[in-house]
Amino acid sequence: MRLQPILKPVAAGLCCESGGFHIDPVRPVERALITHGHSDHARPGHGAVLATQETLDIMRLRYGENFAGATQVISYGDNIRLKDVTVSFHPAGHVLGSAQIAVTDGRRRIVASGDYKDVPDPTCAPFEIVPCDIFITEATFGLPIFRHGDADGEIRKLLDSVALFPERAHLVGAYSLGKAQRVIALLRKAGYGAPVYLHGAMESLTRYYQSRGIDLGELRLARDAKKAELAGTITLAPPSAITDIWTRRFPDPVAAFASGWMRTRARARQKGIELPLVISDHADWDGLTATIASTGAGEVWVTHGQEDALVHWCETKGLKARPLDLVGYGEEDEALPLAAEGESGA
Ligand SMILES: [Zn+2]
Repeated sequence: MRLQPILKPVAAGLCCESGGFHIDPVRPVERALITHGHSDHARPGHGAVLATQETLDIMRLRYGENFAGATQVISYGDNIRLKDVTVSFHPAGHVLGSAQIAVTDGRRRIVASGDYKDVPDPTCAPFEIVPCDIFITEATFGLPIFRHGDADGEIRKLLDSVALFPERAHLVGAYSLGKAQRVIALLRKAGYGAPVYLHGAMESLTRYYQSRGIDLGELRLARDAKKAELAGTITLAPPSAITDIWTRRFPDPVAAFASGWMRTRARARQKGIELPLVISDHADWDGLTATIASTGAGEVWVTHGQEDALVHWCETKGLKARPLDLVGYGEEDEALPLAAEGESGA
């Protein structure tokens, strides 16, 4: 007899009928399990939300107190029974509080990994391999051309440029949740001790990271500084801001952008980015394929991104693989190349 699937893709997202919930639903549902706080995965209006403390806090910051009818906190590694299944959350290494969600009915385990990266990030818990029968993976950078390299080396490029142009301001485009705080933490790790300036849209989330014990050093708001004071400084801003009228408050600004998409130089040039920085919060091709192999999963479902090459790679390794045609993801963070319009809430 064929077993009923534990999870299945439906219009609202990934549905677990036997557990009575959806994972990262794109429309309001009775009970939602949320992997992380990016707005395409964490939406307001659900009856009940189960997520990590950080993800719930981030949703509250963005959507207000009444973002869901009820909330429940789950810690990494804890098991919670929901009707006929047991769920547990495990670090995804993507942004603060991000989780992979494991669902088991006692016979099989399926892991929905949300967005993830397998490289160190000083602002969140490191990615964990969760052994499973079916692994659901993103494929934002699911092509062999995407190899992100060393984020510390990209930060050195930024610091070299600041040293070379002390009379200019450096504006670094970065997504408000996760990337901005990671760039600041990497600057501190590299020994940069000067105040880092922020666009006002990043303030609340960045202060929240600090409140959770992430050391980001001294932060100031760019709007409180005089133009001349900003020479030789670094300011983090949402991607949409670094090429718009807002930049006039800075002396001769250098436009930088921190994203996995900066691997393609043409894209950077076309967007007027003078200093592309290849820093991504998603796994690159090597990270995706190594992770799939390490889970031991015999079956892989591939979602939101460049599914075809990864499905093909799985098949050459003797794994069952299918693309999931889920819609509604990739509106925030770097899932959408140089996304600007999709930024919301912060
Ligand atoms: Zn994300």
